[in-house]
Amino acid sequence: MINRVISGRSRADRLDELRRRTATPVLIVGGGINGISTFRELALQGIPAILVEQEDWCQAASGALSRMIHGGLRYLETGEFALVKESVNERDRLLKNAPHYVQPLRTTVPIDSYCSGLVNAGKRFFRLSERPSRRGAMVIKAGLTLYDLYTRENGSMPRHHLAGGGETRRLWPDFNDWVKCSATYYDAWINYPERLGYELIEDSERANPQALAINYLSVVGAADGRVTLRDMSGGETFTLAPHVVVNATGAWVDQLNGVLAPGPGSARLIGGTKGSHLIIRSPKLLAALQNGMVYYENQEGRVCILFPYFGNVLVGSTDIRTDDPLDTICAADEQRYILDSLRFVFPHIAIADEDILYTFCGIRPLPVSDTAVNGRISRNHSLKVIAPAAGRDFTTLCLIGGKWTTFRAFGEQAADRVLQLLGEKRRVTTTDLAIGGGRDFPAVGERKAWVALLAAQYHQEAAQAARWAERYGSRVAALLEFAGQSPDRPLDHHAGYTVNELRWLIVNEQVEMPADLLVRRTAMAISGRLTPALVAEVTALLAAERGWSETVARENLRLTIEQLAQRHGLAKLAASATEGETYDHP
Ligand SMILES: Cc1cc2nc3c(=O)[nH]c(=O)nc-3n(C[C@H](O)[C@H](O)[C@H](O)COP(=O)(O)OP(=O)(O)OC[C@H]3O[C@@H](n4cnc5c(N)ncnc54)[C@H](O)[C@@H]3O)c2cc1C
Repeated sequence: MINRVISGRSRADRLDELRRRTATPVLIVGGGINGISTFRELALQGIPAILVEQEDWCQAASGALSRMIHGGLRYLETGEFALVKESVNERDRLLKNAPHYVQPLRTTVPIDSYCSGLVNAGKRFFRLSERPSRRGAMVIKAGLTLYDLYTRENGSMPRHHLAGGGETRRLWPDFNDWVKCSATYYDAWINYPERLGYELIEDSERANPQALAINYLSVVGAADGRVTLRDMSGGETFTLAPHVVVNATGAWVDQLNGVLAPGPGSARLIGGTKGSHLIIRSPKLLAALQNGMVYYENQEGRVCILFPYFGNVLVGSTDIRTDDPLDTICAADEQRYILDSLRFVFPHIAIADEDILYTFCGIRPLPVSDTAVNGRISRNHSLKVIAPAAGRDFTTLCLIGGKWTTFRAFGEQAADRVLQLLGEKRRVTTTDLAIGGGRDFPAVGERKAWVALLAAQYHQEAAQAARWAERYGSRVAALLEFAGQSPDRPLDHHAGYTVNELRWLIVNEQVEMPADLLVRRTAMAISGRLTPALVAEVTALLAAERGWSETVARENLRLTIEQLAQRHGLAKLAASATEGETYDHP
């Protein structure tokens, strides 16, 4: 069966629709993964919810994650068993429901002793200590045994394995001398989180055409029971009377509460921490990882990760308190910290500054906490209801915390609370519902034959069809159909993508700015492949599809280059674009 894309709604159509709606049962503010998940849950129950995002879908924390879909092994130590169980269940659901983007990940933990950390782990469990410390083999073994127990219920992953000194040295010759043994277990990773976020929106609108999702639309005010929204591209404002507002704005939750209820501030709910990652080009480091993840404690006992990502290595992360949702630039001292941590585990693999191809940073929207150690702030999620008050006739439901991994469960819980407020009942569950290109996507063993059949049906080369299947899962059929309708060619500055492929994304996936394409609908940016010429080529394609004037196209190109330089450490890209040089990158 062809997994067709049903979009058809242009931005102008969406804004028209918004203009017609003067009231809505639910307005969801924030198009990160948790707002999107709540939208999907409500749309599937028949609720004509409206979802708005001030920039692009998954542009904030939901595009800045470590890209792990995981149970959260370390939360066992603080006794958050329910969170680990929920996370493991959600991880296993994502492996089934989004097999095109979520895959198992073999994970190895280097360990420096057999017994260390026992006393501290005990203290942490009984909340007598917050001090980070290194965990020895016995503590890790205990954690992994419990983890296996949760995992075994779903029968999805192999059990953990503890390797002694000899075996570890043989398997991991590049590890630092302090590594005495190691443990290997399985979790999962996601290659296109932002794409999965978009597919959830598309599924929701397809299931319920009354549900409406609009990006680049910001909530900017509220008065007399009505909320004001501003179109961030055209400047037009709209007002809506909602029955319930879902505040899913992550690091902006407190700010939005201030906008919705001007006057004396409500209680602070969010205490964010900033986290940065690097994408590093190092064939030696890549080879050392042997296709798996290394999950380790650095010199101060903080958990760090690294694993292969689109041919490079993703390394992270930092964990620094901040109250500013826009504090999302990976600073020079963070880069140094991440590289020092990397040297701590692989001391003989040198990384030069020019090996850092790309950086990304986001704010974890954690619950406000007075814990002295950031890593100890709970990664659990919760809901807070703010009752209507004079001048604010709607109830506000705030989403606090939450991991990417648990978006479905959190969205389900938020939607259930909204349904209760609306006096409605749940009709369907999403536990086993495949997402986007994960629908009817064949199992690994059957994929090659399936792709060959599709390639023949649409007169496309098998290699191209296979590449698209890897990127879009079963939605590849819709792309093949679209791409076959006019002559196609590879981009001049990135042979891995074609013109019709980008046109298909622009037409169907609410692409408004070049960065939406470069950073979130494709992996061009995160795979370290951006050049000024490529950014200009993609902008020109978008300009042609959208009918931008030359002035608008030039301004959007300038804004994009500036944003990529600022948010992703691509200052060199900005410099060479200004000087009209070609940027020397792989
Ligand atoms: C460094 C880091 C590493 C992480 N690693 C992992 C991991 O490996 N695995 C995992 O499971 N989780 C991970 N997480 C956690 C996870 O990414 C987040 O908890 C999750 O993405 C939060 O999603 P959200 O939708 O709540 O918030 P966000 O994604 O931040 O979305 C909130 C949105 O609200 C929008 N908004 C704000 N104000 C307005 C307004 N007035 N009008 C309209 N829109 C507005 C913002 O633009 C933003 O897009 C990580 C997080 C970080 C930061």
